[in-house]
Amino acid sequence: MITGTTKLLGVIGQPVEHSLSPVMHNAALAALGADFVYLPLPVPRDRLREAIQGFAAIGLRGFNVTIPHKQEIMPLLSEISEVAQAVGAVNTVWATELGWSGTNTDITGFLAPLRSRQCPCHTALVLGNGGAARAVVAGCTQLGCQKVQVVGRSLEKLERFQSSWQKSLLPPLLSVHAWDALPALLPQADLVVNTTPVGMSPQTNASPLDDALADCLAQGAIAYDLIYTPSPTRFLQQATARGLTTLDGLEMLVQQGAAALEIWLEQPAPVEVMRRSLQQALSLGQS
Ligand code: NAP
Repeated sequence: MITGTTKLLGVIGQPVEHSLSPVMHNAALAALGADFVYLPLPVPRDRLREAIQGFAAIGLRGFNVTIPHKQEIMPLLSEISEVAQAVGAVNTVWATELGWSGTNTDITGFLAPLRSRQCPCHTALVLGNGGAARAVVAGCTQLGCQKVQVVGRSLEKLERFQSSWQKSLLPPLLSVHAWDALPALLPQADLVVNTTPVGMSPQTNASPLDDALADCLAQGAIAYDLIYTPSPTRFLQQATARGLTTLDGLEMLVQQGAAALEIWLEQPAPVEVMRRSLQQALSLGQS
């Protein structure tokens, strides 16, 4: 129940209409009996500074950040965690006495299903070099990967991606490659992560790998698709047909949200409630 004492959380972005975060967080807040509500907060690109000044004025406790503000919010924060600095993006912000603090919980989210399976990983192959790929690359190094190979379709963007990590510990581990290097790279990889939107609804018949490339996937490798709808994606179907272990993006979504909620509420998040609320919302969306 929303009362005069209810505290505010939310997600900023544009668009935010399709975000599943309000469903997941409000289910969690209700299960905890926490006197909070989590709102979608549409903020245009050119009104970000004004918006967060307004949030401070009304005492918003914290918020998630999505496209197009994940990088742009960084200079407006008074403190940024090391992981968020390494990734170059913030997805979770909370109020402190000094101002707004920010971090990136996508790495925690990405790693959670790999850690719970104690997946060994020597060589990771990352398809795509956009925003989510940055969290994946940082996560792979935390996982102890010895090699992280990133494949993209624009050499110029790949070079920018690589040089953006120059100050981190990554450069010896990280290499970037054009898409046509995949036949040589796939057989060496024990973790292959799709960070492209290829295969996402409504293009559900698409895969970042054609069948000939899917035949190059190594036996025993893990295929991880950050996409959570549909599930399984065509990429994961190809991997399953070749006997590989597969992971979809739902658990990453749940766990990045749980990590954010734990920062705001300073108590454990009801992960199962969050997972179920998302599964229900996704199944309603597909019906
Ligand atoms: P993004 O910043 O736009 O990056 C997308 C990347 O995919 C870019 O490198 C882009 O290449 C590449 N790409 C796009 N279409 C391609 C195609 N047809 N062939 C090859 N490469 C292609 O997007 P993002 O924020 O990283 O998100 C990527 C995906 O991850 C989305 O499906 C998103 O839903 C998912 N995601 C899931 C979670 C989760 O919690 N499960 C979290 C974050 C993201 P160019 O740079 O050359 O355009």
